Amino acid sequence: MTWDAEQKMQFLFALRSKGVTDARALGAMEKVDRGMFVKGHFEARAYEDMPLPIASGQTISQPSVVGLMTQALNVQPRDKVLEVGTGSGYQAAILSHLARRVYTVDRHRRLTRECEKLFESLDLHNVTVITGDGSFGLAEQAPFDRIIVTAAAEDPPGPLLSQLKEGGIMVLPVGQSDAVQSLIKVTKTPDGLDYHELCPVRFVPLIEGVAQE
Ligand code: SAH
Repeated sequence: MTWDAEQKMQFLFALRSKGVTDARALGAMEKVDRGMFVKGHFEARAYEDMPLPIASGQTISQPSVVGLMTQALNVQPRDKVLEVGTGSGYQAAILSHLARRVYTVDRHRRLTRECEKLFESLDLHNVTVITGDGSFGLAEQAPFDRIIVTAAAEDPPGPLLSQLKEGGIMVLPVGQSDAVQSLIKVTKTPDGLDYHELCPVRFVPLIEGVAQE
């Protein structure tokens, strides 16, 4: 499924009405057709502002939440970004238009394999997809200017906090998986960590270990 001019305009309008106003975040989202990341039964709903099921029992996040997270992350053109929770690859594709380099990790090999093919076909060559437990970060590529986590943990994972550069920003949902969670922005300053709560959200849980498939 691909979008036409009318669908694209409505999609961007809906994002703005939900508070996604940053020009760079909107510009990147305009370049990535969500219809390419939703397959099968739910394809027709790709441009609606709702999370949708993807393979391996996971979900592609709601576009307005993707927009708010992208905006809060404030990615700069020279940045090296880590995403934990590749899922459909939609968020990573958006980040690839804003950052120098994106590393994205998921515990489901089936999802990472699909994403690699998709990024190749979309000519997104600055994204590296890795299968693994992202709660430990990616030590060999650390430190990162920006870290985004798209699955919920009770607290920000320690290894991710330590792999964030000074001056760096991390955006993630925190809270219990079966309750309403909070989206938070953590900034690493010379004096320590600064926490800022953004909005209530609901994400699938961050789970330990690599999945069977
Ligand atoms: N960002 C995605 C949505 C992610 S859904 C998108 O744009 O479509 C959350 C993803 O986090 C799921 O794919 C799940 O497999 C993954 N996940 C959960 N725990 C993880 C962990 N410890 N390490 C890596 N990925 C994890």
